[in-house]
Amino acid sequence: MRTTLIVGNWKMNKTASEAARFVRELTSALPRDPAVEIVLVPPFTALESVRAALGSASHLGLGGQNMHWEAQGAFTGEISGPMLRDLGCTYVIVGHSERRALFGERDGDVHKKVRSALLHGLRPILCVGESLEERESGRTEPLVTGQVAAALNGLSQRELDAITIAYEPVWAIGTGRAATTEQAVTVHRAIRKHIAAGWHHDTAGRMRILYGGSVTPQNAASLLSEPDIDGALVGGACLKTDSFATIALAAKNRPTH
Ligand code: PEP
Repeated sequence: MRTTLIVGNWKMNKTASEAARFVRELTSALPRDPAVEIVLVPPFTALESVRAALGSASHLGLGGQNMHWEAQGAFTGEISGPMLRDLGCTYVIVGHSERRALFGERDGDVHKKVRSALLHGLRPILCVGESLEERESGRTEPLVTGQVAAALNGLSQRELDAITIAYEPVWAIGTGRAATTEQAVTVHRAIRKHIAAGWHHDTAGRMRILYGGSVTPQNAASLLSEPDIDGALVGGACLKTDSFATIALAAKNRPTH
């Protein structure tokens, strides 16, 4: 009932011309399947060239890696929701742990970005996740559900339908040490339970919850075999055609539940 979603977060990789070449190669390697939605999230500077390389009939979606909550104004170096929409984005990643840790983004900022994304017709991919120290001190679930609560505070059930949550343990991002399938499932269930309690059981049932953090061609099938894991947010492994295509194929071949 929930369409599997595979998102490739390119982070600060590939120039506009490298991106166009890569996407031309990638498009034919990725499965075309109505049960799997695939979204590419290149750097802002490559959005236009990726869109052109995809063409208007592409089965691949486009997203931004971040956005400011204001629509325009004196915010040097920032990008707004309407700018992303105008470049063909339908998704935007919000609250990625690198934004939180390296650029001082707080829960309140993430909340404003989620609201603004919705206002401008973008579907937020809300990233949440605990640090290693938080996990080791047994605080994972309250920490993660607290991030979800802060980001989604005051939103309606209808607004929640446009949101995807990505559970990304900070200790798993870019480290090669992914959460085990069991660890991911436990947190995904806690998030879904929190959504059911705060909004509605049906809203929670419709919510897509992705796992992110060192997803690879080797671990994707196991993670995606779980009905509570609705897809993956992929960083490093989305930069090469073979590895991203293998992950997308694992999504296509996941058991139906
Ligand atoms: C990410 O950037 O969201 C991510 C999960 O990165 P990686 O797959 O490289 O851990």
